[in-house]
Amino acid sequence: MCIFAKDNITNIINMAQKHIPDSSCQYFNEKEETLTREQIEALQLERLQATVKHCMNSPFYKARFEEAGIKPEDIKTLDDIRKIPFTTKKDLRDTYPFGMASTSLKDCIRLHSSSGTTGNPTVILHTQNDIDEWANQVARNLWMVGLRPDDVFQNSSGYGMFTGGLGFQYGAERVGMLTIPAAAGNSLRQIKFMTDFGTTALHAVPSYVTRLKEVMDQAGVDPKTDTKLRVLAIGAEPHSEEQRRRIEEMMGVKAYNSFGMSEMCGPGVGFECPEQNGLHFWEDYYIVEIVDPETLEPVADGEIGELVLTTLCREAMPLLRYRTRDLTRVLGRSCPCGRNHVRIDRMKGRSDDMIVLRGVNIFPIQIEKILMQFPELANNYLITLTTDEDNDNMTVEVELEELFTDDFQRLLKLTSDVKRALKDEILLTPHVKLVPKGSLPVSEGKAVRVVDKRTVYQ
Ligand code: ADP
Ligand code: ZN
Repeated sequence: MCIFAKDNITNIINMAQKHIPDSSCQYFNEKEETLTREQIEALQLERLQATVKHCMNSPFYKARFEEAGIKPEDIKTLDDIRKIPFTTKKDLRDTYPFGMASTSLKDCIRLHSSSGTTGNPTVILHTQNDIDEWANQVARNLWMVGLRPDDVFQNSSGYGMFTGGLGFQYGAERVGMLTIPAAAGNSLRQIKFMTDFGTTALHAVPSYVTRLKEVMDQAGVDPKTDTKLRVLAIGAEPHSEEQRRRIEEMMGVKAYNSFGMSEMCGPGVGFECPEQNGLHFWEDYYIVEIVDPETLEPVADGEIGELVLTTLCREAMPLLRYRTRDLTRVLGRSCPCGRNHVRIDRMKGRSDDMIVLRGVNIFPIQIEKILMQFPELANNYLITLTTDEDNDNMTVEVELEELFTDDFQRLLKLTSDVKRALKDEILLTPHVKLVPKGSLPVSEGKAVRVVDKRTVYQ
């Protein structure tokens, strides 16, 4: 039963959910995807007001609104969103497990939870309608990049609490594709599924694509000739444009960036269209703000800040002005593809991932971008921070595409070229170690790029 049942908006979406368009149509939800800016904003205001009202069922938001001295009726324009206090991950932890819910548990059918390595885990609840809407968003994305019911979709994400598994599963099923829930790991089996079942689309974290290609090389399987693969959905972890182009080249396919986070639902929040000019964030589902992480004031389009998201269609656990910690910027609000949903740049990283070394702020993605410019270097790298005799240092280990240890001069020159290029980017000179391909660790889920062994944290 839909909580916003009497609300026209949800009825429109529910109708869209039941409808799979004709394969020749470039939109999955044509009406929502082609809204003009004015229509998007009118819809957002209507949905924001309904969401805020609905949030008053949550003990957390009720108290928050009372503390801030605001009432749902105070939200008269979209700009009034700025009257609402931000919600943070800490709020989710403090209200663990069910204190954020805006519906009773009886209305919920699913719970996802993050690992909680730093304190209480966070819990995200879903009603049936939330799950349907989530599938709808993922389906819209997959359709946008040309996938149709006759495609074969393989998902190499872990199933379970990690939303990349079930999220893509339901979305791909909604499109009507044949789905292969291969789950994470076991690369040889992944490759066998791909060749035997004629997989045309694969979802994977970018670091895993590199690993998969290595195993393909060892097994003598060429993705370009031995598989039918034509589309990759890559995301869940930061990666540079250079990394994406490399992945496209080595696999011989288009690789589209996919953004999601469990707090919003999971994958589906933002996705690149065939123009590959930023991720369309779906503004019929979310209000997107970019704010200065220090002052919390909005920044101008084009300027980097923290991504803040407000859910507009969620029932079990709507979140208002959720501080994602992800840093990015607005690229534009129109697109040659016909969608006017805001275009967001690939994530620069999370503010929590920023390395502060000897007072200099560095994002791992800056290092990746430089490494990927050297064709002699492979895709896997590891940044280790250590304290040596009271000095904090960075060591960048990166795998070589091909071993040429016999040519010592060449190795030395490459090492010093990489060092210099990194210094130009990050303003510090790291140690650089070129290591054989396959020698650095590969994680099953999101890649671990930084190991901090410093004794004194800065
Ligand atoms: P966790 O918080 O445990 O990592 P999530 O799966 O919810 O669990 O992760 C969401 C986060 O993953 C985002 O906030 C963002 O930092 C990162 N992320 C997701 N998709 C992308 C992407 N396409 N590019 C960069 N980072 C991404
Ligand atoms: Zn577009």
